[in-house]
Amino acid sequence: MDIEGEVFIIRKFINYKEKLFILLIALVLLLTACSDSTPELLRETKFVLGTLGNIQIYSSSPKKGNEALTSAYGRITDIENTMSTTIENSDIYRLNANAGVEAVEVSPETLKVIHKALDYYEVTNGTFSIGLGALLDLWGISKVTADDTPKIPTEAEIEEAKNHVDLRNLEFKDSKIFIKDPNMTIDLGGIAKGYAVDEAANILQNSGFNSGFVDLGGDIYVLGPKPDGTPWKIGIQTPEIGTNTVMAGIELTEGSIVTSGDYQRYFIDPKTGRHYHHIINPATGYPTDNNLASVTIVAKTALEADILSTTAFVMGLEEGLKFIEALPGVEGIFVTKEKLVYTTSDVKDKISLMNEAYQYAN
Ligand code: ADP
Ligand code: MG
Repeated sequence: MDIEGEVFIIRKFINYKEKLFILLIALVLLLTACSDSTPELLRETKFVLGTLGNIQIYSSSPKKGNEALTSAYGRITDIENTMSTTIENSDIYRLNANAGVEAVEVSPETLKVIHKALDYYEVTNGTFSIGLGALLDLWGISKVTADDTPKIPTEAEIEEAKNHVDLRNLEFKDSKIFIKDPNMTIDLGGIAKGYAVDEAANILQNSGFNSGFVDLGGDIYVLGPKPDGTPWKIGIQTPEIGTNTVMAGIELTEGSIVTSGDYQRYFIDPKTGRHYHHIINPATGYPTDNNLASVTIVAKTALEADILSTTAFVMGLEEGLKFIEALPGVEGIFVTKEKLVYTTSDVKDKISLMNEAYQYAN
């Protein structure tokens, strides 16, 4: 309307050809303005860090948006190549391969993530530990595929592996790390994904994308509200084996939400029917065995939420709930195997239960 008005005023002083030209320019301007101001939802899914990544952003320029998505995935792949236990020549692969042999130079980034993990080892009284490689290898759960039936370790094997999980065996010198125990390995499976989500989110936000989210298999960071200013509704998966439904939705404008559970990576012993999963209780050496089915953490960063969801899951309902409640800016949603939902105090009004079988307990 404004543009038409301007053209109308100008007409009084110009000839017909000029008027047509100006009208054309105005039309082009109008069209560009329109395409620039109506952001479009761009999405890209990709298999990264052993899981399906899903990044979605609202962008007024498809070209810039797609470039940003490519950079975000590039960053995630770099982190995977640096911190994976299985990719040869990753920092962690070289570190583990040289356990008991020699100190290994690692990137500043790896050093930073390891130090973060060690901070949380202290805060969680050893519940969150990156030193459990020996136990994880023994259980073999992180690497199983659907057709594998990994063997269940003996009590003696577990006791032996538990002798090789002491993080005091990490020796730091400048940018080098030495694992003094030749039978010990480290594993960043409980922290690297959260870190990668934060880094991808940083790239997108720094490029001006403030509406959308990064989701790496349930580790989510929300970049900012939807274009109309409303929050995103993030689904929490029903924590049961073989289901793919949403149990609850949480409204989130910005920040992270991460879920840990026993229903995603597991195997079932054909002899006993028992179910073994990938979150190890360092105190027992066995997969965590309590009445929790899942823990969802809402926090400022995905790194923190990733660590804390694993930690609270291992701690169990009572201790976990108390621990999370005491942390400022962190909320938790605990779901038991009896389908009861417990939450910390400040998050309940943001949650809507969406599966009738699940009910609030507190
Ligand atoms: P997911 O990777 O499925 O999202 P988690 O974030 O809970 O699940 O992380 C589980 C991974 O963390 C395991 O696959 C393993 O690599 C590692 N891990 C297992 N137990 C612990 C623990 N007690 N402390 C820290 N990391 C752990
Ligand atoms: Mg985790």
